Amino acid sequence: MKIAFIGLGNMGAPMALNLHKAGHSVSAFDLSAPACDKVREQGVTVAASAAATLAGAEVVISMLPASRHVEALYLGEGGLLAQIAPGTLVIDSSTIAAATSQKLATAGAARGVAVLDAPVSGGTGGAIAGTLTFMVGGAAADLERARPLLEKMGANIFHAGAAGAGQTAKICNNMLLGILMIGTSEALALGTANGLDPKVLSEIMRRSSGGNWALEKYNPMPGVMDAAPASKGYAGGFGTDLMLKDLGLAQENASAVNAATPLGGLARNLYAAHSLAGHGALDFSSVIQLVQKKG
Ligand code: NAD
Repeated sequence: MKIAFIGLGNMGAPMALNLHKAGHSVSAFDLSAPACDKVREQGVTVAASAAATLAGAEVVISMLPASRHVEALYLGEGGLLAQIAPGTLVIDSSTIAAATSQKLATAGAARGVAVLDAPVSGGTGGAIAGTLTFMVGGAAADLERARPLLEKMGANIFHAGAAGAGQTAKICNNMLLGILMIGTSEALALGTANGLDPKVLSEIMRRSSGGNWALEKYNPMPGVMDAAPASKGYAGGFGTDLMLKDLGLAQENASAVNAATPLGGLARNLYAAHSLAGHGALDFSSVIQLVQKKG
């Protein structure tokens, strides 16, 4: 298939590469030249602009940071949507407000362009391995059109419901992830302050009732897991500011439906404090620094 892929950051680059490796014809673009260079070096064609990726594209996939980037790309002045041929399928995998996904889907429908919100979970490791979980909002028939491509990037594909439902599922998941990363950090900080070996403690908790995804795949303590961002100076991975964005979306949503999310609110404030202390660009597992004994 001919695929336009826009947004080649920590997640977008490996996702585009997996489509390329599967034999699809990918035309990619990112505003950042180094991000473009990284995929070009691996054989992906890089276009001169977002609009230039559209030539002949049957599917457009985007992986951008936040709602404002998605709105600007598709719906802003000279936006892409007006240039996308009717009949094309748009798959936006960015984590953004459900309301923005719904707005894009409505604007797409008016032009005969089907739009799916398809945010993902699984981290950069899942993006590289092609084992992401996709949470899809939109028409079931459009998901079936997208499925062969999603299967090249992910291992679990869920239809969450109508437009925006994928985003709602995603922020519920990330609210839980944000909370459990802080809880895992507290437990590790407490144990190590008492002289326990963090590797031994992590293994004990992983196989006990405290076991969770952070202990399985993303330990926040440096040196426990070689592949985790914690062991690479918290570089790459999932930025603190992106987690802060998702927890903000969860809180906005909770207010709108009058849901009680006390720990989600507290977690948002802890990541905000961590970001304000200058750590917004570090992987979100660096939040352990808020509770870790120094020196
Ligand atoms: P990132 O910041 O690494 O990459 C985003 C890329 O989008 C950047 O390279 C940026 O230059 C590019 N960009 C922004 N506006 C653009 C535009 N108009 N045209 C072209 N390129 C543009 O972010 P990421 O970690 O890849 O995350 C992307 C999305 O996926 C976010 O919504 C994030 O919340 C979500 N997500 C991230 C992870 C993770 O582990 N990193 C996991 C699941 C979901």
